Amino acid sequence: MQDNGVMRHTHSLRGAAWVVGYLVFVLAPLFALLTGAVGPARDFWTEFSAALGYAGLAMMGLQFGLTARFRWVTEPWGEDVLYHLHRQLSLVAVALVIAHPVILFMVRPELLDLLNFVDAPWRARFAALSMASLLVLLATSLWRARLRIRYETWHHLHVVLAVAAVVTGLLHMVGWGFYLTDPWKRALWIALTVFWIGLLVHVRVIRPLFMLRKPYTVTEVRAERGDTTTLRMEPDGHDGFRFVPGQFGWLTVWGSPFGITGHPFSFSNSAETGDGSVEMSIRRLGDFSGRVGEIPVGRRVYVDGPYGAFTIGHPADMHVLIAGGVGITPMMSIVRTLADRHDDRPVVLLYGATDWESITFREELDEVAGRLALNTVHVLTDPPSGWDGEQGFITADVLRRHVAPPYGEHEYFICGPPPMMDAMEAALRELDVPMSKYHSERYSFA
Ligand SMILES: Cc1cc2nc3c(=O)[nH]c(=O)nc-3n(C[C@H](O)[C@H](O)[C@H](O)COP(=O)(O)OP(=O)(O)OC[C@H]3O[C@@H](n4cnc5c(N)ncnc54)[C@H](O)[C@@H]3O)c2cc1C
Repeated sequence: MQDNGVMRHTHSLRGAAWVVGYLVFVLAPLFALLTGAVGPARDFWTEFSAALGYAGLAMMGLQFGLTARFRWVTEPWGEDVLYHLHRQLSLVAVALVIAHPVILFMVRPELLDLLNFVDAPWRARFAALSMASLLVLLATSLWRARLRIRYETWHHLHVVLAVAAVVTGLLHMVGWGFYLTDPWKRALWIALTVFWIGLLVHVRVIRPLFMLRKPYTVTEVRAERGDTTTLRMEPDGHDGFRFVPGQFGWLTVWGSPFGITGHPFSFSNSAETGDGSVEMSIRRLGDFSGRVGEIPVGRRVYVDGPYGAFTIGHPADMHVLIAGGVGITPMMSIVRTLADRHDDRPVVLLYGATDWESITFREELDEVAGRLALNTVHVLTDPPSGWDGEQGFITADVLRRHVAPPYGEHEYFICGPPPMMDAMEAALRELDVPMSKYHSERYSFA
């Protein structure tokens, strides 16, 4: 295995290279506009608005790459950061795309006639269709919960609207021939189109084919405390993959890898099993997770992974794990792995749960404590009578009571409900823990 320091350096370089490549691609026409001469047929503002439209469309197209689960793209940052970026960049892309017609209508009011969808030429209709798809895409993403749209329905709609927005945007551009006159601009667009088609083929055909050839078999279905079920899965006819504790995979149980059916779950077993088997511990929350307990032993499933940058391996004198609810699963993998590796550094696990009976892995944590310098601190919101342990929520004070200074020397891992994660990140800042020393995994991409 590669040395962690070298790996982190490679990731930083790769991350920086991606950012530069991205900016060059998206900003190329703006640079050309600022440095090159503007053709006589097009004034500055027309060219500028077209460049903004180009940049917006290019950003939208590149969005597919951010969420396509390419390990060489996601590794430097981790999936949750990329999904966050995906959301923020979408807002910028939409702003650019809207700015494009607004500027045009301001400098050339005669173009307002193009808003008449019935009489407008197709190239203008495509623009309207692209804009409409984009706005519905944005509204359904920002307000999915408020609009009470099921995750699966939203995900399908999201893909359809995104493809529609980009394809009609592209057709609009081809219709005007705006960015197809200069050879280098033509090259940029051909590259982007090839990239989109390649991406689509990779995500929808090539990767599912690989997954189909590497199935897993469910060998154990274990009921856990806290409405949670652990699935143990063994590679069927292949060696599986190796993961780093803290990482996760996409699980497909019903449906084929060709559909949009995968759900993300952290691995909860030790990374040291050596036989390629993986375990996922899944809390009953909705349609999919609610049916996990019904999965029969022997069922063929698909696991796409490993993903995620929420991993141990950084220099640390002590690991501090802060878990809330089902956020215990990656922590379980971390403590099991450290125990199997006979790691002698102290581990403090601050574990928030509702009550004593619903503490997932309660007994296993006691067992692991016999093999690792592990101090588990249960923090209960609904403690039993006579409870003399921590109660309420995990706070900076709870941290101070159970974690010995120097706080900046330890490595922190946080996973749990969003309010807990926000509170913990604020608490660590309060304790002057540098950002590079704490890692968060948010269980929500959308
Ligand atoms: C990196 C990561 C690791 C996770 N690890 C675990 C774990 O170890 N154990 C565990 O119990 N849960 C874990 N989760 C949460 C788990 O993925 C969701 O609870 C599960 O997908 C819910 O699906 P559902 O159909 O049962 O519920 P629903 O009611 O349909 O969904 C509940 C919420 O889960 C999210 N969600 C649903 N489906 C998906 C999907 N296909 N892809 C992404 N998000 C989705 C949405 O935010 C949705 O609002 C993890 C999530 C992430 C992002």
